Amino acid sequence: MSQEPFLGTLFVVSAPSGAGKTSLVGAALEADRELTVSVSHTTRPMRPGEEDGVNYHFVTEQAFLELMGEGVFLEHAQVFDNYYGTSGRWVDEQLTAGRDVILEIDWQGAQQIRRLRTDAVSVFIVPPSRAALRERLVGRGQDSSEVIERRLREAAEECGHVAEYDYLVVNEDFERALQELLSVFRAQRQRIARQSKRHGELLAELSRADE
Ligand code: GDP
Ligand code: ADP
Ligand code: 5GP
Repeated sequence: MSQEPFLGTLFVVSAPSGAGKTSLVGAALEADRELTVSVSHTTRPMRPGEEDGVNYHFVTEQAFLELMGEGVFLEHAQVFDNYYGTSGRWVDEQLTAGRDVILEIDWQGAQQIRRLRTDAVSVFIVPPSRAALRERLVGRGQDSSEVIERRLREAAEECGHVAEYDYLVVNEDFERALQELLSVFRAQRQRIARQSKRHGELLAELSRADE
């Protein structure tokens, strides 16, 4: 798969459930209009306040497996007994249009993306402590205690993959974590590989010998 036509950067953001990934990515989108987030497909039940097509495309397991068979997903994984997947076409359209795309996906999906898109940049978000993670999952008030215990057990596995990521953000103070996350997104825009695609004409003009 060619990576040449893409003007935008593909970002992967992972975190143990409850670390604040969705809140931080939401705030980053508000702060920076060049960022977009991919809306995943999932088979998990909708939470109170969630909207189909906004938080996720909520689908049945049968529909998910059909889409998978059609090769719709750039990556997909089973997390907490549910299927999650990223639509490849939408992502590529955004990248081609020069927008940066964030994938909020788990470590299994992150591994698939790294293999497919070697220029993807990945960020791992952690809570300041295990106790804080529990408090946030309970405080969010959207999952049953059984689901919360399951997510806490799985947090250790997710965190076991932190060394595979490019950047780490500790979400203790929300504002600070947000600025750190934004600084990662913005720094990528100034990289030569990306700037030379955007400013090819300028660079060519400046490097021409005097006529
Ligand atoms: P939350 O992250 O605690 O709000 O819970 P979610 O149910 O929204 O997400 C559960 C897990 O699934 C997280 O680890 C997500 O990163 C992961 N996830 C969400 N969407 C996708 C996806 O499209 N692909 C993959 N591989 N994982 C996903
Ligand atoms: P994730 O998407 O990683 O599962 P959420 O963004 O849903 O996490 O955040 C989990 C809960 O923690 C939410 O109720 C959110 O408001 C809260 N939260 C996020 N960041 C912080 C923070 N820095 N301090 C305190 N609470 C936070
Ligand atoms: P939740 O059900 O709490 O929203 O998410 C559970 C987990 O699935 C989270 O760790 C989330 O990051 C992950 N996840 C959500 N969407 C995707 C996706 O499209 N791909 C992958 N690989 N993981 C995802």
